[in-house]
Amino acid sequence: MSAGIVVVGGGMAGCAAAWALAERGEACTVVESTHPGNPAGGSSGTSRMFRRMYSDAYYARLARASLRAWRRLEADSGNTLLAECGLLFFGDRGEKDSVEGNIPGARRVMREQNVPFDEPDTERIAARWPLRPPENSEGLFEATAGTLHSRRALEVMAGRAVRAGADFLNNETVTGIHGAASGRRPLTVTLRSGRVLAADRVVLAAGAWTNRLLAHLGFRIRMELWGMLWAHYAVDASLAASYPQWFCFKPPSGADEGLYYGFPAEGDPPVIKTGVDWCPPAMRATDPDRLPDAPDPEVARLLDTFLHTHLTGVRHCVGRYVSPYAMTADNGFVLDTVPADRRITVFAGDCGHAFKFAPVLGHLMADLVLGRPPAIDPAPLSITRDAVGLTAI
Ligand SMILES: Cc1cc2nc3c(=O)[nH]c(=O)nc-3n(C[C@H](O)[C@H](O)[C@H](O)COP(=O)(O)OP(=O)(O)OC[C@H]3O[C@@H](n4cnc5c(N)ncnc54)[C@H](O)[C@@H]3O)c2cc1C
Repeated sequence: MSAGIVVVGGGMAGCAAAWALAERGEACTVVESTHPGNPAGGSSGTSRMFRRMYSDAYYARLARASLRAWRRLEADSGNTLLAECGLLFFGDRGEKDSVEGNIPGARRVMREQNVPFDEPDTERIAARWPLRPPENSEGLFEATAGTLHSRRALEVMAGRAVRAGADFLNNETVTGIHGAASGRRPLTVTLRSGRVLAADRVVLAAGAWTNRLLAHLGFRIRMELWGMLWAHYAVDASLAASYPQWFCFKPPSGADEGLYYGFPAEGDPPVIKTGVDWCPPAMRATDPDRLPDAPDPEVARLLDTFLHTHLTGVRHCVGRYVSPYAMTADNGFVLDTVPADRRITVFAGDCGHAFKFAPVLGHLMADLVLGRPPAIDPAPLSITRDAVGLTAI
């Protein structure tokens, strides 16, 4: 008997796809190697930034649609998923682009798309928050940005998928996909336990492991895995309520690419979650098994120096972690059907910023899987664009 649609991977993309598919009445089975949001994947941890402050107009539009979708999911599920705390961009990097774009570009796009924002200068930033911005920093503050409770969001999406009839097979790994491009129906998905699932359609939502799955179809894409450092730091309790959600764009200097971020403080004693948004060559790999899982000491030192230079009240580090970004060459996602067999849909190349779009990506995947006209133009996410380097192996 067919399992209907098999979704490989139970991270953000897998949970969002299963939720969208199951609520459209599709039989759906999610196969996840460990469990949703596991520490080795890109959806680990409890929080993610949400913003419309993008210097790429396409992603800003995607974020606008996502904001509406998150609020709908909150209303439908009775859960708070997105805390509106604002987001401050600051720095002296100017137009120089980065994996997160740049401040002048974000200002331009927000103007074009009527996203409300404020422009605090160095002095106003230092007066309002416990921050010491680089001299001559420019600032952008998007008050309607916020922090997503990402673990809770995964639970809610998975819970709604299950309520609508989806099955989750946790601690199961897909070891093969057979019958693609042969026209044979159904596809056959083999699992490490020896189970075999017959699938009408397959969704690959395997994050850093995507090329392993694509290899079963005879393809690979150009995707580099970055082991990203993030950390918790203790902060002065008297300042705990004042830390904003922030992202700093400094110009690159030697080993320091100048991109740092942080969240508001939480807990008692209070800690901030903070991280570095670049990755040295030694922390990059194409094979997920070769991705280091221990922090790079030099990057850890740079983060430490940044925090003690540019924030007030930061004390010691209480934990460092490494989690993967799956990077494409143009810093854009891949969300498409596979040309060799349109029964297979893939989401990959999250580039470290996909969580905020989860509900919209879930619906887009469901549209493609079911061959419905997509609500949002998926052309910029095409798997056949040059930057993705789709090749037969
Ligand atoms: C440190 C960090 C900070 C981030 N900050 C932000 C942010 O502020 N805002 C934002 O929007 N985004 C952010 N992101 C990005 C966002 O979290 C990711 O884009 C998103 O969570 C990726 O989800 P995914 O489902 O594509 O991948 P994953 O969560 O990695 O899911 C893939 C899953 O597939 C499973 N799997 C793999 N192979 C198999 C197999 N053969 N069989 C079965 N299961 C398999 C894995 O176990 C894994 O659980 C951040 C990411 C990181 C790492």
